Amino acid sequence: QWAYLNGQFQPLHETKISVLDRGFLFGDGVYEVVPVYNQQVFEWPAHYARLERSLALTHIPNPLDQQAWLALLNELIQRHPWPHQFIYLQITRGVQTPRDHLPAAELIPTLLAYTNPLAPIDKRKVSQGIAAITHADLRWQHCDIKAITLLANVMAKQAAQAAEAQDALLVRPDGRVTEGSASNMFLIKDGTIHTPPLNEFILPGITRLVVEKLCRQHHIEFIERDIDQAELSTADELWLASSTKEIIPIVRLNHQPVGSGQAGRLWSQMFDLYQAYKNR
Ligand code: PMP
Repeated sequence: QWAYLNGQFQPLHETKISVLDRGFLFGDGVYEVVPVYNQQVFEWPAHYARLERSLALTHIPNPLDQQAWLALLNELIQRHPWPHQFIYLQITRGVQTPRDHLPAAELIPTLLAYTNPLAPIDKRKVSQGIAAITHADLRWQHCDIKAITLLANVMAKQAAQAAEAQDALLVRPDGRVTEGSASNMFLIKDGTIHTPPLNEFILPGITRLVVEKLCRQHHIEFIERDIDQAELSTADELWLASSTKEIIPIVRLNHQPVGSGQAGRLWSQMFDLYQAYKNR
């Protein structure tokens, strides 16, 4: 397994960075997770646009242009035998000493990329769904940046595990549901898909974007609006969506069944549409 670090490919398990890297010391960096199907990058323009935006908002210089990025990803993919992969790429602000919150001028960003095998998705297995809990959204007010600082997300996941659930739906102090700990959320009611609007409280997911596109193509009503946590118990279906998990039904929330307690009809339709879109 190979990693790309600052211009060079090297064995992943021997790849090391400085303890003075601002990513390590301050969580000062951004990342992307890009799925690969049949050795082809999935939705690269959307992932790249989000990466550029994360870099711009944090004032971290983009170390490569779009062509060089794609060449790097393709070489990384081809160095591995797996048909389906997910690439992790991370850019931190770079190495700095002495320690100072204020970034020094003209730091050289640290660029790390490596890839992992992605197991094929089995509809029967996914249709069993997951249990979730609601949990306070303890994150900051720039969740639209794909920042490497994920402590609140990790703690929400731990809380889910402690409640014998697989994930958490995050709830802001005013009762609005934002997203999952590492996924966007959808509420289905009377054949319509509802999802929170894009703002500083959620990550603009690429899977969410594809779901929206598929809804428009197939005349499924898709509404972006605030969702209050009180509505969760009235939902016909609840889904989570992310690049690595695709679209998964939540069948139990806070130990109560969601809708019928089984994966819903619209989930099944959207799952099939998503597979067809991936394989197009
Ligand atoms: N929200 C959060 C907080 C996430 O971590 C992720 C996954 N990285 C998503 C949403 C889904 O984004 P995507 O569909 O691009 O994987």
